[in-house]
Amino acid sequence: MHSNIIIKTGDITQEHVCAIVNAANSSLMGGGGVDGAIHRAGGSKILEACKEIRKEQYPNGLPTGEAVATSAGDLPARYVIHTVGPVYRYCGEHCTSLLAFSYKNSLKVAVELGCKDIAFPAISTGVYGYPKAEAAHIAYEAVKGFLNEGHEMKVYFIFHNHENKEIFEKAIKSERG
Ligand code: ADP
Repeated sequence: MHSNIIIKTGDITQEHVCAIVNAANSSLMGGGGVDGAIHRAGGSKILEACKEIRKEQYPNGLPTGEAVATSAGDLPARYVIHTVGPVYRYCGEHCTSLLAFSYKNSLKVAVELGCKDIAFPAISTGVYGYPKAEAAHIAYEAVKGFLNEGHEMKVYFIFHNHENKEIFEKAIKSERG
């Protein structure tokens, strides 16, 4: 296992890290799953910042694979990095690259913010229907590639339940290191 990758179960809204990543939808107006949990726990500041981004930067919504940062409102983290993962039944041949982009672009934003730690949920594996083991390979490879470029960052993978954590750990067993 890469020494800067930590895998654990928990609620990502409670992570004391510089940035937590939100598996948002392109509207940036909140939603269900982890998106809803982050907006609920973080308060209205996050939504206000998202509205500003829609107005100034992305009037048509945040494209799949892109990432933007806002304040984390009342959360213990300093920033929320919102990214839009691919919807599995629509992404076709682009699924792998789009999911990898979500991770890589989030990491890039974290670097720009000066963060030294970041926590990811399992992007696209909820309502967006990405098969969990497949998503695990892509997430892990994207993060490992980034760390191997020499970036100094602690990367947390946060799973909402033990079962999802086990699926992830089993999937990446062959490619650790
Ligand atoms: P997507 O729309 O990208 O599929 P979801 O929010 O539906 O996003 O699900 C992504 C993953 O986030 C799921 O595996 C879900 O179990 C997990 N999740 C939901 N709430 C939380 C939370 N509070 N902390 C961490 N992970 C969460």
